[in-house]
Amino acid sequence: MVFQTISGETTASAGKSMPVLRVALDLPLHRLFDYVAPQATTADKGRRVRVPFGRSEKIGVIVDVVEGSDWPLEQLKPAGEILHDAPALPPDFFALCEFASTYYQAPLGEVIMQALPAGLKRIDPPTRRNARALRPPPAVGAPALTAEQAVAVAAVDATAGFSAHLLHGVTGSGKTEVYLQLIDKALAAGRQVLLLVPEINLTPQLEGRVRARFNEAGVVSLHSELAEAARERNWLAAFSGEANIVLGTRLAIFTPMPRLGLIVIDEEHDPSFKQQDGMRYSARDVGVFRARQLGSPILLGSATPALESWANAQSGRYGLISLRERANPQATLPLVKMLDTRRKVLKEGVSEPLIAAINARLERGEQSLVFLNRRGYAPVLSCMACGWISRCTRCAANMVLHLADRRLRCHHCGCEHRVPKACPTCGNQDILPFGRGTQRLEGWLKEQFPSARVLRVDRDSVKSRKQWESVLERIHGGEADILVGTQMLAKGHDFPKLTLVGTLGADSALFAADWRAPERLFAQLMQVAGRAGRAELKGEVLIQTEYPDHPLYAALVAHDYPGFAASMLKEREQAGFPPYSFQAMLRAEAPEMADSLAFLKAAAALPVVPEHDKVMIYDPIPMKMARLANLERGQLLAEAFSRPALQAFLPRWREAIEGLKASSKLRWHIEVDPAEF
Ligand code: ADP
Ligand code: ZN
Ligand code: ZN
Repeated sequence: MVFQTISGETTASAGKSMPVLRVALDLPLHRLFDYVAPQATTADKGRRVRVPFGRSEKIGVIVDVVEGSDWPLEQLKPAGEILHDAPALPPDFFALCEFASTYYQAPLGEVIMQALPAGLKRIDPPTRRNARALRPPPAVGAPALTAEQAVAVAAVDATAGFSAHLLHGVTGSGKTEVYLQLIDKALAAGRQVLLLVPEINLTPQLEGRVRARFNEAGVVSLHSELAEAARERNWLAAFSGEANIVLGTRLAIFTPMPRLGLIVIDEEHDPSFKQQDGMRYSARDVGVFRARQLGSPILLGSATPALESWANAQSGRYGLISLRERANPQATLPLVKMLDTRRKVLKEGVSEPLIAAINARLERGEQSLVFLNRRGYAPVLSCMACGWISRCTRCAANMVLHLADRRLRCHHCGCEHRVPKACPTCGNQDILPFGRGTQRLEGWLKEQFPSARVLRVDRDSVKSRKQWESVLERIHGGEADILVGTQMLAKGHDFPKLTLVGTLGADSALFAADWRAPERLFAQLMQVAGRAGRAELKGEVLIQTEYPDHPLYAALVAHDYPGFAASMLKEREQAGFPPYSFQAMLRAEAPEMADSLAFLKAAAALPVVPEHDKVMIYDPIPMKMARLANLERGQLLAEAFSRPALQAFLPRWREAIEGLKASSKLRWHIEVDPAEF
């Protein structure tokens, strides 16, 4: 790929030295691009620059200004305009990107460019308008801390320099208040704060609390739902130091902030902190690196920490801070009970005791929540006569029936079509939905409780942040008696009138092939259980299961995250799974599985593999979701018992894989610390 930087024109006379820009471009190549720039000085490091590329122009970032190049100078193209509309990116930004590039085996150019807002990467940026000034919300004072909260704040505040802390607190224990007090201290010390929250527009309540407390300090948000102009404006406000608090989702971890002095990651266990395409990074882990680099504290908060974080807290790498009580002394933890469904008659999957419990709430004017983590009407449509089922033609998955708009939809590739009137294979008109999702449950609840107002909350009914805010308002305003929904309902909201949570279909994650499934199930159930009884009304959680004695459920009944974590970590240690081993996954996808597997096999047999004898390479296998959007996918696991051994191996392996011959239709990537199997 040499030709991009080489032009026919002679741009510099040979022999003479000349400033050369080393430019990061958004390309999947592990190299920088050199351009000559006679007027450039080292002060241009970190600025954006227009450069010719192929037949067009691109915006890149100047990583370095050097004399001379590995290429003959006369073959380099001249750079275009160096842009001065934003300050130069600072050295610590580059150090962070270099770390991510090395750790995750991602091209430096891609890492740098993905950290910039889209507007700053455009060759023809739209004209920028100033933001409407928002009326600040009324200022809200801080409550007096509980004893546990005070200890937590003091623990973080007492440390000088880098320190990582895990704040483990049951739902409602007042973790947010701990964040706010620490933010207050950081601001008082003249520092900026980065507060990361999980993806999906689920945090208007937290945002409201932060803005209400610190409206003077300049709070900006950075998440994927922001319009391009707003995102650019907010990013620049953080970068210039004008905004003191950044509230963002995973990508915000790369935001350059000149006075950053505190990083907080709320719900640190949340899977959305892991990016699943492009550079597959964990914002939590990048955050810990960034805090170390800055010499500042980082606080990871959760009611159900990731087992990796818990292990770090147990080993003393992170400080452990626990909040065991709810902050509001009247709000006790909910009573969690198992409903053994083995010998019970179920109506639409709902047992008699759960129906009775909902009825009792209706009589008392309280809210109930029925949790089913499967959206749509039914997971599959099937013909009884010939056995046809609604498979996705592009994926190894079934099309989900959505009766609300009479569509069949694949939740993996997004493809959809109308529900057929008859079986496409045999013409039988009697095709039936199997299993149930939230839409079906909603319909049945409406029939079963005709006087109740049933509100469904899932990604089909709530698509935008606006819709989500209005749903939250309706729930708060008491406009719903029964909520039915997916994990959207599980996170961080106070529903004061909600006193009953019933969960359906939880068992399926107990025996899933993915060994992380129980950890996720426990976190989800704990979170959704935490919705019940947050105010003075006592909450009750009923979990329908055929395995009432399962240790995971026993730990849930006892609100015993530490016990659950200890037993899971023991299993992981015995099995040699992370965090007791270090993994990277090589994945390949192609139209034919044979090609994907052959490529992986060749990668496993590369000469660097035996040279790195501390790294084990497993056999290539098809992925669990073997076919996605017409591509057949395989994977190959590399594993070591030491992080340095794996890190030494990966760049050499990656370079060797880049040299493998493969069909042009084959794509591959390496994921370090893979989250899904
Ligand atoms: P978490 O983030 O741990 O789930 P929150 O910070 O949302 O918990 O606190 C739960 C509830 O307790 C909220 O309604 C909050 O206003 C209240 N709360 C938190 N800290 C205090 C305190 N020190 N005094 C009184 N109420 C508090
Ligand atoms: Zn049929
Ligand atoms: Zn599909």
